[in-house]
This record gives sequence, C-alpha cells and structure tokens, in this order.
Amino acid sequence: MTEMLFRHDPYMREAIGTVTAHTPEGGVVLDATIFYPTGGGQPGDSGALHWQDRVLEIATTLKGSGGDEIVLVPAEAAALPPVGTAVRQALDWERRYRHMRVHTGLHLLSVVIPLPVTGGAVAAEKGRLDFNMPEALDDKDALQAALQELIDRDLPVREDWISEAELTANPELVKTMSVKPPVGRGPVRLVRIGDGATQIDLQPCGGTHVASTGEIGRIRIGKVEKKGAQNRRVNMHLAN
Ligand SMILES: [Zn+2]
Repeated sequence: MTEMLFRHDPYMREAIGTVTAHTPEGGVVLDATIFYPTGGGQPGDSGALHWQDRVLEIATTLKGSGGDEIVLVPAEAAALPPVGTAVRQALDWERRYRHMRVHTGLHLLSVVIPLPVTGGAVAAEKGRLDFNMPEALDDKDALQAALQELIDRDLPVREDWISEAELTANPELVKTMSVKPPVGRGPVRLVRIGDGATQIDLQPCGGTHVASTGEIGRIRIGKVEKKGAQNRRVNMHLAN
C-alpha cells in the first residue's frame, strides 16, 4: 500500500520514498509518494526519481491493479532503482500546480452552473465539465464574470474526512453537497470551498486543489459544445 502524501499536502514538490516493488510493466512502487495517479479526470503526475548519481524520468503515474498501490511509470525503459532503495522524488511542479488550479476552478464552475455534472477532465492549460444542460447558455460573459468573482474572493479550500456512519446520521450534509459521495468504500474525503457563512461548495473528491481560490488566477470560459440532446461541454482556460 502506498501512502498518498499529496492528499494532505498537495504542495510537496519533493520527498524521500523507498522502493517497495517493481511492476511487470516496468513501473516503480514507493512506500509513500507525492505523485498523484491518473483518476477523477486529473492526469497522473510526471517528474523524476533521483538516487546516488542516477535519474529516472517519470512520464506519468497510475493506480495499481489492486487499487491501493501507486505506480510511477518511467518515460523510457531504463534501469529502475532496486527494491529497498531510498529515492528523492521530484514533481514536474509547474505542470502539477496548473492541474491544481484548473481542478479547483472546475469545482467553482460547478457552482456557477448548478446543473448535474456528467463528466470532466483536467489538463495543464484548461479543463472542462460536461453538464446535463438541455438549453444553451444565454450569457457566457456573465458566467465568466461570476466565476472570476468567486476566484477573486480568495476563499479557503479545505479537506474533511467523514465516516459513512456520520453521513448516515447527518442526511442534511448530503443535501449540501453538489455531488453524492460513494458508499461502501469507507471514510469519504470531502473538499469544502469557503467556510461557515462563506461556504459555497462541498463535494467528495480525491484530487489535488490549491489552498485558496485566488491561486487559480485569471480564467476564461472557452467553447461551449453541444454533446448529444441533453449535454453541453463547458471549457475553462487558465488565462495566466
Ligand atoms: Zn476536486
């Protein structure tokens, strides 16, 4: 099992880890990692592993087949650090930080468009959400202004963990969430934007977020694409 260091501190750019396994596909498993694995619409992290005088470039990161291991995928076939080796892991931070900004921006997009979300994806330059939206958006400029206004409020983004028993005992909590939490998988991680009277979003999410919405910076709403009879895809770009 890999400890997910990015969960509690998404701002860790470097960390030491120990190699616990190699996968048959040539991946590296560490006891604890700062590399986020592809999932929830967010791409896996890239970066490098350093040990002794060696460097191994990591192209992406995936969840292992068992689900509780994280596999770092080398950019090319190369000698792997042997099992038991302590390595210094370093993220491609510029790319990851943009993922954090886009990902958090998409949470806010789901606030300014309060419709059911049917899909989404994060990239370094832009992100998108698919909405169950039968009618066209009537004012894209107003939407962009509303989204930028939420960003500029510089609201805190915090995680909370809640047990399924607590969720069951507090049904009103589920009503305040924009997305229903999964059931039967143990404690649920919630991401809260704002606090108390300023809370504007609460949803279960396992991704990496910025600590404060102001870090998202300037955004621009891009194309709104029709996807079938019911769905529309709204694109959001980082403008700086
Ligand atoms: Zn999230």
